[in-house]
Amino acid sequence: MAGFVVVFDFDKTIIDCDSDNWVVDELNFTDLFNQLLSTIPWNSLMDRMMDELHAQGKTIQDIVDVLKRAPIHPCVIPAIKAAHDLGSDLKIVSDANTFFIETILNHYGIRELFSEIYTNPSFIDDEGRLKIFPHHNFTESPHGCNTYTCPPNMCKGKVIEKIQASMPEEKKIIYLGDGAGDFCPSLKLRDTDFLMPRKDFPVWDLICKSKNLIRAEIHEWTDGEDLQNVLLQIINSSNISTEEEEEDNNGDSSKIISVDCKFQKIPVSAH
Ligand SMILES: [Mg+2]
Ligand SMILES: [Zn+2]
Repeated sequence: MAGFVVVFDFDKTIIDCDSDNWVVDELNFTDLFNQLLSTIPWNSLMDRMMDELHAQGKTIQDIVDVLKRAPIHPCVIPAIKAAHDLGSDLKIVSDANTFFIETILNHYGIRELFSEIYTNPSFIDDEGRLKIFPHHNFTESPHGCNTYTCPPNMCKGKVIEKIQASMPEEKKIIYLGDGAGDFCPSLKLRDTDFLMPRKDFPVWDLICKSKNLIRAEIHEWTDGEDLQNVLLQIINSSNISTEEEEEDNNGDSSKIISVDCKFQKIPVSAH
């Protein structure tokens, strides 16, 4: 098996909403968030919003309850599990934060399927307030990326370079994302890699405008069912070609898993 490193964005890729917006909207802080957004960078604003939530009596449990009912397409978890079963190394690169992401992954029992999560660090302080910090401490040392789509707190392209430097040469990356922040890492992929942009979302628009800058093979997807089909097709077809290339094939070197999400049961959290 050639082996893939599958790198997922989180918001609007694994879950079907933006977790930051979801928490703010579900706890009825949308107006304040919108007021402050013009003056405070997004990542700093989320930390500020956690202060506001705490000051107005919202608890960590309130945030957890909201995160547990974030929308997720029923095919996405089976797709993640199948990719893992096929021998892929799974990672997340996200501009959300550790608490939001781990709460949702733990809720679905899939946290341990991911070897690494690169995101904005967060922790709960002594007073029960969630603190959110930038992935790159941009006030002390800017990440230095000039791609205009990268926010000051996180360049996902830098993260991909770090992943590439630490992985075996023969492994290929499959990168899945939807947002403008997923454009920079798309530029870092090699011609043996695969890029899965979500169709009609910002990263797809950016890629369409500058296809000549992308070396990876592009496979678009629209929703969770499509994500599952496209992702597993890339992994399965690569496993088949690896098997064909092997002269002395004893028949157990590759695994093909076909999953139809319609037959998978996804736990539905109480609302
Ligand atoms: Mg996203
Ligand atoms: Zn960048």
